[in-house]
Amino acid sequence: MGINEMDINRLTALEIHKNLNKTISPCSNFWSYACGSFSHHSEYIDNFQRVELKYTQKMEEFFEANNLKDYEMEAPYLVGQMRSYYKACINAPKTNYQPTELMNILTPTTNSWEWYVAKLRKYGLNDVFLHEQVDVAYNDSSKPIIQLKMSEANTFSPRLLLELASDAPETQTVRNVLNSTRNLQEKCYEDRDTYSWSLEELIEEIPQIDWQIYFQELLDLKENDLKRSDLRFEVSQLDCLKELGNLLKAKSLDTILPYLKIRLILHLRKYQTNLNCVHHMRALLPLGMNYIYNKYIYQNRIEDTQKMEEIFASLRGTFRKYIEANRLQLNSEELTYVRSKLNAMKLKLGNLPEEKSSEYYNNHYRRVNFSDFHFIKNLEQALSLRTHLQHAALLVNESRLQLSQYYVNDDVTKARTSPYYENERNTLIVPLIFLQWPLYDHRQHPIFVQSLMGFILGHELSHAFEQEGILYDSLGNESPLGWQIRQSDLFQNSLQCAAETPFASLKERLADLNGLQLAYDSFFGLQHDSQLFEYRPYEFESEFLAPQLFYLSFAQFFCGSLPPVLGHDMDDVRVNVSVKNIQQFAKDFKCPLQEKHHEQQQLNYCQMWRPSQAK
Ligand SMILES: [Zn+2]
Repeated sequence: MGINEMDINRLTALEIHKNLNKTISPCSNFWSYACGSFSHHSEYIDNFQRVELKYTQKMEEFFEANNLKDYEMEAPYLVGQMRSYYKACINAPKTNYQPTELMNILTPTTNSWEWYVAKLRKYGLNDVFLHEQVDVAYNDSSKPIIQLKMSEANTFSPRLLLELASDAPETQTVRNVLNSTRNLQEKCYEDRDTYSWSLEELIEEIPQIDWQIYFQELLDLKENDLKRSDLRFEVSQLDCLKELGNLLKAKSLDTILPYLKIRLILHLRKYQTNLNCVHHMRALLPLGMNYIYNKYIYQNRIEDTQKMEEIFASLRGTFRKYIEANRLQLNSEELTYVRSKLNAMKLKLGNLPEEKSSEYYNNHYRRVNFSDFHFIKNLEQALSLRTHLQHAALLVNESRLQLSQYYVNDDVTKARTSPYYENERNTLIVPLIFLQWPLYDHRQHPIFVQSLMGFILGHELSHAFEQEGILYDSLGNESPLGWQIRQSDLFQNSLQCAAETPFASLKERLADLNGLQLAYDSFFGLQHDSQLFEYRPYEFESEFLAPQLFYLSFAQFFCGSLPPVLGHDMDDVRVNVSVKNIQQFAKDFKCPLQEKHHEQQQLNYCQMWRPSQAK
């Protein structure tokens, strides 16, 4: 469908109007006002699902096309592998995962539990007794290290685990292993001290666990090569790991193996539930999917890059003004810290490395050989490929990250659609799937783009300066200066203010508040008072004035039927709390003055970086 410039704005305005519920006052519940009719007229759950379906459709067309010629493909091996994976996936039987030959790794061969747990980790299964993950050093963001701690809670459902075990004769053993490790896990939650060690130190400090067997197996190394490697470890929950070692040493393998078997089944089933092959592949094979989408489907890189850089520059400009006003009364060293972090921040469209050569892409998945028919075998291979790629950085080039080849490749089961900020890279990444209408279109009028996308980028930018993000400097290294800022009274006061309304995650709350303020100030100006201006409606919008349209367009990101969201507040809370903390909002919608006893509250806008004297 060809949409010219006028049409896209009319279409966007039309969407906004369709979602309105005018029986509700914008002053009392803005989310319900802006989004109240969405679920009545829309065939989608929300706008995320809408752009995800568009993406899926285009990728399916690519995978199903018969006329792909080899000479057109710059990375034929990669593309061939992706097509095979897709083909086997869409023809996969719709039954739950059943054990395959992979289970043979759990037939007794050695006496150390470490060997089995390392084997499972190679297939992506983490948090069996302990948590192992490749990360970067806390004080050197280009040095890959191995993070070790107790297994994280809530990575699987104990109910499902016991249900599966009820078929087996080993129910009691499984329950036993589950309970004893969970008790230990709960006890350890508080311990946050972290130690940075070499392999010898790790072996010496925690002799209760056979690390040599574990890492030899996980990294496919001979004993001597492992000893010669310069692996670094960041270990936390030290006492608990020791206790874990003792606990497992006291258990026989007959007790541990049935538990491991069921954990493995649960793990593989997680990738099979509600299987949408394109979405599944986005999560598991991000480089291949991004390469294909970027090269063969994505059309607007030049226009989008220009537009996104414009928004990013304008948000940074406003944030610079916030810093200059110095609401938090930082000293000059702290101000430099914050400024250089802002200046060094990068924006990336798509989760792809800078590396451009076709050879790199073509060879990236050389270790796998997917078949057109066996989905489960492909899945097992893909999981082991991902773990291998994550660990590869530890063993090459004096174990430095090759930043030109860096992209995000973590153990997710669901792919990211929303933009995100990476502390260690000081980079804001916008997944290409997000750059689609109705969330965004480069031809849209600035009032639409700078409200919705402006808020999203403002939210992500703000993550760099909330209580966790502030700890990382411009290069992504943890810094004592960050601590110093975070401990200051004024910073803590801002946290308290934001915490006064109940929240699911305080840092998300802060990113929301600051993000919307930042977007609004960037569009209308920091000292702007919308009461002083006569706004005439735009030609594509006859009812709402610019400031009103701004909030309504921002809210579109959150329109949908309200499912429980993890990590964030519910969408209605996010919208309502955010607009309540914008001083201009009540004026923009001519909200009646609050009663006397509410007046105090009304004046108490939560702002962290925004100068309080600003309108
Ligand atoms: Zn966030």
